[in-house]
Amino acid sequence: KRIDIIPVFNHILDRFEMNKTELIHVERKIPDERIFVWVDQDKITQVIDNIMSNAIKYSPEGGKITFQVVKEPHRLRISISDQGLGIAREKVDKIFERFYRVDKARSRELGGTGLGLAISREIIEAHHGHIWASSKEGKGTTIYFTLPLRKRKRGSRK
Ligand code: ATP
Ligand code: MG
Repeated sequence: KRIDIIPVFNHILDRFEMNKTELIHVERKIPDERIFVWVDQDKITQVIDNIMSNAIKYSPEGGKITFQVVKEPHRLRISISDQGLGIAREKVDKIFERFYRVDKARSRELGGTGLGLAISREIIEAHHGHIWASSKEGKGTTIYFTLPLRKRKRGSRK
């Protein structure tokens, strides 16, 4: 469906700021305009929930989270940055694999299965977008994903 996406983002972030027991503040760098994308709203909400939960789970309390949306010529680029544990350089690309967890012992304490980002990648790729990460150990992590701004015509080539 064709969705006016900015209110959806704001609604998801409002919910995170309201519901959590920890004090969470999300800095929003979000354009104030109507931007339409062809997405499954529930699926995109699931992706953001996954990434936001990670940003909270793998950060010390009080760390800032930044949610940014940049409108590029043919796509929307969303990024979620935290100031948490970060991920070692050689492991960053593996976090999108099923059941991959950077530090097994630590992750077990924190709970989870290692599927959140693998599912997120499937959803974003089904929307013809990309998802990737950049991170610095001890400094923080940014997860990026994109959504095309135009509907793919059926039968059109890549
Ligand atoms: P699940 O999401 O299924 O509950 P999970 O959070 O361990 O479990 P993913 O969300 O797929 O699984 O993340 C995979 C691994 O990537 C995590 O176990 C963690 O080691 C690492 N990771 C993900 N996001 C971050 C982040 N923001 N900061 C540091 N490490 C992260
Ligand atoms: Mg997760």
